[in-house]
Amino acid sequence: MYQFKLSPVLMPAHAEDLRAEVRAFLDREMTEVTPVARAKTWAACDPEFSRRLGAQGWIGMTWPREYGGQERPAIDRYVVMEELLAAGAPVGAHWIADRQSGPLIQNYGSEAAKTAFLRGITKGEIFFCIGMSEPNAGSDLAAIETSAERVDGGWVVNGAKLWTTNVSDAHQMIALVRTDRSRETRHDGMSQLIIDLEAPGVTRRTIEDHQSERHFGEVHFDNVFVPDDMLIGEAGHGWKQVIEELALERSGPERYLSSYRLYEELVQAHKGRADMVIESLVGELTAKLWNLRQMSLSVYESVGAKEKPDIEAAIVKDLGTTFEQALPLMVQAGIEQNDGQPAGSDLVDVMEYLLLFSPIFSLRGGTREVLRGIIAREIGLR
Ligand SMILES: Cc1cc2nc3c(=O)[nH]c(=O)nc-3n(C[C@H](O)[C@H](O)[C@H](O)COP(=O)(O)OP(=O)(O)OC[C@H]3O[C@@H](n4cnc5c(N)ncnc54)[C@H](O)[C@@H]3O)c2cc1C
Repeated sequence: MYQFKLSPVLMPAHAEDLRAEVRAFLDREMTEVTPVARAKTWAACDPEFSRRLGAQGWIGMTWPREYGGQERPAIDRYVVMEELLAAGAPVGAHWIADRQSGPLIQNYGSEAAKTAFLRGITKGEIFFCIGMSEPNAGSDLAAIETSAERVDGGWVVNGAKLWTTNVSDAHQMIALVRTDRSRETRHDGMSQLIIDLEAPGVTRRTIEDHQSERHFGEVHFDNVFVPDDMLIGEAGHGWKQVIEELALERSGPERYLSSYRLYEELVQAHKGRADMVIESLVGELTAKLWNLRQMSLSVYESVGAKEKPDIEAAIVKDLGTTFEQALPLMVQAGIEQNDGQPAGSDLVDVMEYLLLFSPIFSLRGGTREVLRGIIAREIGLR
């Protein structure tokens, strides 16, 4: 059964020192960044920023020293993530590698893969993307068709992946592929491969979203050779590993902080104005944020303790994305009610950007309906 740790998760003193250090770094780094650019947070890529963050020791910071990590406690990483997201730092280039590809390689990867990638990830020099979805496999991930055939010394991959975030900046993809079609159930016979996106036979294209931005794309594989040591874990165990990976993907603070910039702008724009409508709105938003933070911290602790909080992660992602989608609408309603904000102000610009961008929050990382199905199954409804 699922559970959340209800006791307040207290930050140790050293974590608060770290928070001050990160804030000072971000103050220096982000003087020129506009509020709308900040609202993109983890959807924005800046490889140079990722390198500077890596130089601080703030990527892969919990990993073993032999692989470039700092062996710091999990709570330190949470603090760094929180501050990066709250400031709206352009962390998209390294985010996936830090959050899930690196941990997956540590847990299941070959020694060759660990040596090839982990240190580079911590330096902000090697970026990853996630190759799960395909043209005919999204919510129903087990419908994937991209295949890998066994050959001497490795695998040959054919097929295509779709909606791949970070498609331009990533160097490597961890792809879920079908390696055996003869298994009895459709969840068997899948494997995870690390595919070099510069390898012969790989073609990638960005896709423009409805705001003309190009944060994701498609990747095609035409007889792409992948060496044996780029298989993650055992052949045929891909489904189990992907489920673990999805818990990492769904449990972080990015699942409720995607609209946080608007909360900040709302508070900034109304400081000292004694506006009852906005005060009530900010109170409500703050209470919701605080609850989500406690739940997210609880899941994060469980992941750190090597528990498997798949259900808790699904609950936090569902509640979190519902909040971050509702926030722009609530601010819009609040502003309309008191009619106080001119068009073109930072607050209105950020709100308009997020009103258009936020529908994707409940799609990426697994849709709302799918998460609710997972939760319903845990409750015993199906
Ligand atoms: C911004 C963004 C970034 C993304 N990045 C990546 C990435 O990096 N890597 C990657 O692999 N994928 C990525 N995706 C893809 C994402 O995981 C899929 O879009 C998602 O899983 C849904 O799949 P689909 O688009 O095929 O929709 P479908 O699966 O076709 O779903 C269509 C609708 O039907 C509903 N539905 C489907 N099945 C059920 C069901 N059983 N019960 C109830 N309702 C159901 C869905 O909830 C949805 O509303 C990204 C998507 C977005 C929007």
